[in-house]
Amino acid sequence: MLGQQNFSSFVMGDWLVSTQPNRVVCSAITGQTLGSVGGALDVAGMRAYAKTYGGPGLRALNFHDRARMLKSLALYLKQHRKALYTMSFETGATLADSKIDIDGGISTLLVYASKGRREMPEGIILPDGDLEVLSRDNSFLGQHVYTPLQGVAVQINAFNFPVWGMLEKLAASLLAGVPSLIKPATSSGYLAQAVVRLMLDSGLLPRGAIQLIMGSTGDLLEILDCQDLVSFTGSASTALALRSTPNILKNGVRFTAEQDSLNGSILGPDVNPDSVEFDLFVTEVHREMTTKAGQKCTAIRRIMVPEEHLQAVQAALRERLAATKIGHPALTNTQMGALVSLDQRADVWEQAGVISAECDLVFGSEEDCVVEGADPELGAFLAPMLFCCPDPDAAVVVHQVEAFGPVATLMPYRDIDHAVALLNRGGGSLVASVFTHDPNVARQVVLGAAAFHGRLYFNDRVAAAESTGHGSPLPHMVHGGPGRAGGSEELGGLRGVKHYMQRTAIQGSPDMLTSITGAWVKGSTEIVAQAHPFTLGFDRLQIGETIHTAGREVLIEDIEHFAEFTGDHFYAHMDAEAAKANPFFPDRVAHGYLLLSFAAGLFVEPNPGPVLANTGLNALSFQKPVVAGDTISVQLTVKCKTRRTDEYGEVRWYVALRNQDWEQVAEYELLTMNSYGETKGA
Ligand code: NAP
Repeated sequence: MLGQQNFSSFVMGDWLVSTQPNRVVCSAITGQTLGSVGGALDVAGMRAYAKTYGGPGLRALNFHDRARMLKSLALYLKQHRKALYTMSFETGATLADSKIDIDGGISTLLVYASKGRREMPEGIILPDGDLEVLSRDNSFLGQHVYTPLQGVAVQINAFNFPVWGMLEKLAASLLAGVPSLIKPATSSGYLAQAVVRLMLDSGLLPRGAIQLIMGSTGDLLEILDCQDLVSFTGSASTALALRSTPNILKNGVRFTAEQDSLNGSILGPDVNPDSVEFDLFVTEVHREMTTKAGQKCTAIRRIMVPEEHLQAVQAALRERLAATKIGHPALTNTQMGALVSLDQRADVWEQAGVISAECDLVFGSEEDCVVEGADPELGAFLAPMLFCCPDPDAAVVVHQVEAFGPVATLMPYRDIDHAVALLNRGGGSLVASVFTHDPNVARQVVLGAAAFHGRLYFNDRVAAAESTGHGSPLPHMVHGGPGRAGGSEELGGLRGVKHYMQRTAIQGSPDMLTSITGAWVKGSTEIVAQAHPFTLGFDRLQIGETIHTAGREVLIEDIEHFAEFTGDHFYAHMDAEAAKANPFFPDRVAHGYLLLSFAAGLFVEPNPGPVLANTGLNALSFQKPVVAGDTISVQLTVKCKTRRTDEYGEVRWYVALRNQDWEQVAEYELLTMNSYGETKGA
């Protein structure tokens, strides 16, 4: 239990207790006052502080430094999560709910930490897509790049996942290099505040990287400019009000919104009550209705069932709902805790009342709200409410109203096209799921519904054991959806990070692009290697350092030997007449893999040294046939370097093979792991 307090904000490097709090925060379980928030903050000062210290501090780190920081933060929070679980009970969340919120937030940090190291360069500029050749002689090229916005990220979060909702935004903004002003929802903000306190105590973040607003954002949205952005999660109505702020519109301030969503789930037309998928479906719908007491943006609100199975699904769901243990979230047998506040319960009742105008309540009367270990009147407890909509085509509000609690509505459909049409009447959602074992059904749903939904989740007997669930956004996959869901993509790997960055088309000479991106671009100045680059430790290798090897003549005996040795007797290498009949070949040609092998033989320095392993090869293309009598030579250039561990890093090499006429016959990117010292493992 928290003591009564004014929940302080973290402002310009200090914790600041408001002297004029104006909003009370209560326990979801007892209704007792936990504390209060509010009062005016110097939001202009906070923004300036973030821009003066936070932005430069973060931008001084490269992507890998920031990724390592995320990982350390995650591990630090992990050590303290038990205290957070205890605090989280006050929000009405069970331990299982808190694990989704707290552990889910921590694992989002870890996924972004890993993606940052694997998918981003060890630099401060993120290339986007391939090089574009804009000239005939390669002297003028184009490359899109991302750089971090130079303002602040105003992160406004919903009450339902105070930790995950904050950390999923922070994972992306910190990795991008943008400081944040975090504004948690008032009713559960004390849990977010505890996490912010931990993050600051960890000492892992640069000064000014995060600040916390407990209460109102004041006129913050009125002073943002094109280098700032607002990343909002909450209801569609608040999103509309905030994104309509004249200054946001006037200055083109980026505004990403994750809003409410009338997510649907379809029981496939191929499924009958004896199928495995039937049980999977009922289990999932029940889980979505009761987890976090239904206060999940991804929860299933509309349940679409073949009309012949409506009664069977209804009976199965009623049975599960009746057996659901509602109670104090700290009790181990409690399956569903409380809503976040009495106000929220009143809101859910009101919205359920609207839905009841066109749907029948088939479970969830007041008598069904049997609460263990807490007072059902003082705490925000509510029985799950299942409605049935007899005519979903004629119904209107059931496709429009979100009761943000344990409320969902069954609706019958005739065929899969009808189910898809009903699904899409939500006007854009975060996620829709389909329980089917028929791949054709899955394809039909994608064709008919993908444009309306941010994520489509298919589950069946094959995927069930490893499947992550309808309602679980994954950091790797898009979280966000069109239309009513807000039109954003908050997660989805690096897509989420790019929200906080500006994409710019860079045009210039190869040397300009090499300098800007830190990766050697074909056509740039070559640095003549003074020693074989395979003898130089990782740190001594220079970007652009190049060797050109001696030539090697390819003999007909080599081609025949290679064919015998490998078993590759393809006619283009072995049969002159057949090769000549082929539009690509003038005669018998050398195997491409023979050329690769010869190339390695030409550029490799054989003695033990810093090159530990050849780990791969990218973007190989054979560009001109090589016939017996041709002489090939190789260009090997250091393209870019990335530290991987304390002992070794990855080197990417540009490799080009040319013939005696200096015509390029093949090119690729070679990957090696190199130790930092001059000798192996040093
Ligand atoms: P809400 O009432 O819209 O509030 C969302 C946030 O906006 C809160 O932090 C709130 O702060 C803040 N806010 C409200 N008015 C503001 C103003 N004038 N200026 C600045 N900030 C303002 O939503 P909620 O009740 O917290 O959350 C429930 C809703 O969020 C549901 O509709 C749910 O579907 C949606 N949601 C969506 C996602 C998603 O990823 N798409 C995730 C979670 C929840 P106060 O609390 O201080 O008022």
